[in-house]
Amino acid sequence: MSTDGGEPASPLLSVIIPCFNEGENVPILFGRLLPALRALGVSFEVVCVNDGSRDDTLERLLEIQRGEPTLRVVDLSRNFGKEKALSAGLFHCRGRAVVPMDADLQHPPEAIAEMLAKWREGWEVVFARRDARTGQGLSERLFAKGFYWVFDHLSDVRLPREVGDFRLMDRRVVDTINAMPERSRFMKGIFAWVGYRHAEVIYHQGERAAGTSKFNSIKLLRFAFDGLTSFSNFPLRVWGVIGAVISTLAFFYIVVRIIRTLIWGIDVPGYESILVSVLFLGGMQLLTLGIIGDYLGRVFDEVKGRPLFIVRRLHEPGEG
Ligand code: UDP
Ligand code: MG
Repeated sequence: MSTDGGEPASPLLSVIIPCFNEGENVPILFGRLLPALRALGVSFEVVCVNDGSRDDTLERLLEIQRGEPTLRVVDLSRNFGKEKALSAGLFHCRGRAVVPMDADLQHPPEAIAEMLAKWREGWEVVFARRDARTGQGLSERLFAKGFYWVFDHLSDVRLPREVGDFRLMDRRVVDTINAMPERSRFMKGIFAWVGYRHAEVIYHQGERAAGTSKFNSIKLLRFAFDGLTSFSNFPLRVWGVIGAVISTLAFFYIVVRIIRTLIWGIDVPGYESILVSVLFLGGMQLLTLGIIGDYLGRVFDEVKGRPLFIVRRLHEPGEG
């Protein structure tokens, strides 16, 4: 199955690695990744996407590339975020089986052997499932639990648990994803949405090799909200129902008030009930506007039709 020589041969396996300020990790990563890939005995390529790093990530990647003909480096023009960097990698890889993984060695490259074996059995997607959430505090775990619960109930795609971007995908799956035009790239959701037959392998997620996580709580919250709103219209529709219920209750309340006024006359107290209902409805309206605004913003982003990412330069091996 492996092709050698001749025209630009497409390798059997592509490994995609988005890198943002991972200078320290690059040598450690390749020190472990390359032996693991060579041990597979198949033709492979490594596609590193430099996501606008501000450290020496690119230099270190190019240095490794000088002695490593399997490494291709996609240099983005700025930081586009992990999801877009991953999309860039998916666009540029050529393998028949494609594995995205993180640069910090939290995804053990040794697990690829098992994934490849499953793929050969005919599975189009092979998830790598974490055996336990390591390096995560209680609050993060609760947050993840809550997110999955909400996502499951609001959206019609089901996200597999404890499964991140580390997985193997058949060329067919990658082509399907590449053909999806949407700008908003919640990859976990997109991976799940395209479907296909899947198997899974278990892996142990270690600690980050060097450096710190590139995601803080605010970024994570934004990410979770993006994921929800790009895979569910529920937050947009629910207000109609709530509005209908409240209007119905309000209607009966108005009838009661009118009858009371007709029978007992106007009583001045009542200030609180007015204030409460005005504030409550005002708050709800603002919230609804905010949510509609969020979807509108998303539509705006899609309508602009800007490219997902911009490649400054594609560094192919042997170009110097
Ligand atoms: N990453 C990226 N662009 C970003 C943020 C992260 O390409 O804007 C990459 C990062 O270099 C790493 C992967 O995404 O290879 C996962 O990031 P990280 O380890 O910080 O996330 P965590 O493991 O904490 O979820
Ligand atoms: Mg990490």
